[in-house]
Amino acid sequence: MTFEELNLSPAILKAITACGYTTPTPVQEQAIPLVMAGSDLIATAQTGTGKTAAFVLPALERLTVPSKVPGKGPRILVLTPTRELASQVMDAACKYGRGVRIRCGSILGGMPYREQMRLLSAPVDIIVATPGRLLDHLERGSVRLDRLEMLVLDEADRMLDMGFSEDMEKIVSRAPTERQTLMFTATMEKSVLGLAEKMLNNPQRIELAVRTSSHALIEQRLHVADNLSHKKELLRHLVSDASLTRAIIFSATKRDADELARELSRNGYPAAALHGDMNQIARNKTIERMRRGAIRLLVATDVAARGLDVNGVSHVINFDLPRFAEDYVHRIGRTGRAGANGIAISFVSSSELSYLERIERFIGKRLPEKNIEGLAPLSVLRRISGGNGSKRPGNSPGSRFAKPGGNKGKPASSGQGKSWGATAKPAAGARPSRAPAHQPVIEYRSRRPQV
Ligand code: AMP
Repeated sequence: MTFEELNLSPAILKAITACGYTTPTPVQEQAIPLVMAGSDLIATAQTGTGKTAAFVLPALERLTVPSKVPGKGPRILVLTPTRELASQVMDAACKYGRGVRIRCGSILGGMPYREQMRLLSAPVDIIVATPGRLLDHLERGSVRLDRLEMLVLDEADRMLDMGFSEDMEKIVSRAPTERQTLMFTATMEKSVLGLAEKMLNNPQRIELAVRTSSHALIEQRLHVADNLSHKKELLRHLVSDASLTRAIIFSATKRDADELARELSRNGYPAAALHGDMNQIARNKTIERMRRGAIRLLVATDVAARGLDVNGVSHVINFDLPRFAEDYVHRIGRTGRAGANGIAISFVSSSELSYLERIERFIGKRLPEKNIEGLAPLSVLRRISGGNGSKRPGNSPGSRFAKPGGNKGKPASSGQGKSWGATAKPAAGARPSRAPAHQPVIEYRSRRPQV
């Protein structure tokens, strides 16, 4: 299928060609005709699939016809969980909409009100917003939704995870009932379906493979780490390799992200942290520096990196494994983009075994374990299951309600206070000779020579 066959206006087709796109991606091919026909839609598609254009292009198409309703409120509203994702949707709207006369802007938490008030003071076509701040404006009366024609809930599952359910409901209650509603989600959990039931009207459903099929160009591997200092040694080894041109390193907590970025910088590697405690201006600056190549290593948390679109990321390193299997897929999707090869390396310690098992069940394969000469782990991680797609009752792959086995539901943290390059010492601990099910097992082979 070609973009011409999707019946888009010449001005939009021209912008697509200028972006260098030749054929629609599968989600675009399926979603655009349905959206242009006016259907509500629920689509499972992740970042990296081209989902943004799948809703932005038909939204722009709608805007080629003038609104019949007087007023200043937006005709298209896109709600996103994070400011980064909102910025990317805005960028896409500007890029694809360059030939269409539109007025658009974002309403984001953590950003000054003055500019937002200016945006809302004249008729606006597209607003991309995070739910909290938009609701704030609705309650102050600085924006109304009576002109709204299309509502897009982007990464709806993540918005639910982040506790935006009530805000979303309040926003929707102020929108006209005859609007078109599109929902994009990485997972089709019960809570997402519940939201869809409340907000969508007889939706069409598109399910794109969430698994690694879209990650064919990404080499995935695993390094077993004895402890935090061993993880740091492994990281130092990896980042000293010249083939790593640009990497995103994921850590479990904001504090760890800061600490790792500081340690990497101290050791001469251009690095910076990206997490939710940074204000939006600092985050944008960091992303821009990464894009320009001033930063080679970005140490990020999941929320901050969600939707992050930086080209040329050669490596994704999971310094800590994510708690949710979907996040693993999201994380590794930061590399191997636009036909390039990528490498995704995960560190796993004994306390993260349950996360690893969950990821492997979700992606349907075992991550191959690799050792680096001189940095082999002293411990052997014995994986109980994984990679066969089997489901345990009450512990479904990637379920946000699943109970991790060994760490009582707390995110695996890389810990604090150890200095960069400290000698790894195996933690003491009794080792059962046979693993009881669900228990992480760690065995010690021999002592790594102390260096
Ligand atoms: P998204 O999933 O919307 O974050 O898009 C992922 C990346 O794919 C972005 O960098 C887009 O610019 C790019 N993209 C979107 N649609 C196409 C297409 N049809 N052909 C090539 N690249 C595309």
